[in-house]
Amino acid sequence: MTEHDQSSSETDGGELCQACGLCCQGVLHEYVALEADELEWAERLELPRYPRDGTSFKGFSQPCALHQNGKCTAYAQRPGACSFYQCELLGAYLQNQITMDDSLSIVADARQLIDTIQTKAGSAASHQSIWQQITDYIDGQGAGRETVAGRHAHLELLMAEQQLAYLCRHFESLEDIQLEPQHRPGMATARLAIQSARQKS
Ligand code: SF4
Ligand code: SF4
Repeated sequence: MTEHDQSSSETDGGELCQACGLCCQGVLHEYVALEADELEWAERLELPRYPRDGTSFKGFSQPCALHQNGKCTAYAQRPGACSFYQCELLGAYLQNQITMDDSLSIVADARQLIDTIQTKAGSAASHQSIWQQITDYIDGQGAGRETVAGRHAHLELLMAEQQLAYLCRHFESLEDIQLEPQHRPGMATARLAIQSARQKS
């Protein structure tokens, strides 16, 4: 969803966006809001409608199928919400408040947590957002939690979820993260829990 051409240079943040992609992959936003005159563009590209419940078409769901190999494959035609978007991490880098190395380290931590979650949930091939993958895993785990190994796997996944939710503060304020309504309380709770644990330690 970034304003940046992810093939561009380090100085304008292109290197960071190419390594990251979280704003296009359903981590920070589970949907992209569109203007009325952009809906036809999304329909033509068969992007999944948002909301999914059949109520009036307002945008498209993420992860965005147009994000491939670290780049937006529709860069020249991307909608306004994508053109104007800049996350807080990219903004901080462009204002020399954080180095490229430190920015890339935050992105690497986020990608590692996503890998951990997908490995535990067995959802690496999923086209759902990471938050929906977690929900699907928890809803479907059922009997798995009756074993010690199953309970450990469940706890490890929940810890990775909490850490990812907390790490998202580098990219976006909680108010600006655009998640499906059912995932917002989980994100808020996870961030508060980790924040509170850090303050006590
Ligand atoms: S249209 Fe391009 S910039 Fe917008 S979410 Fe999709 S891949 Fe990202
Ligand atoms: S989340 Fe930020 S750093 Fe990552 S791709 Fe989007 S704008 Fe770039």
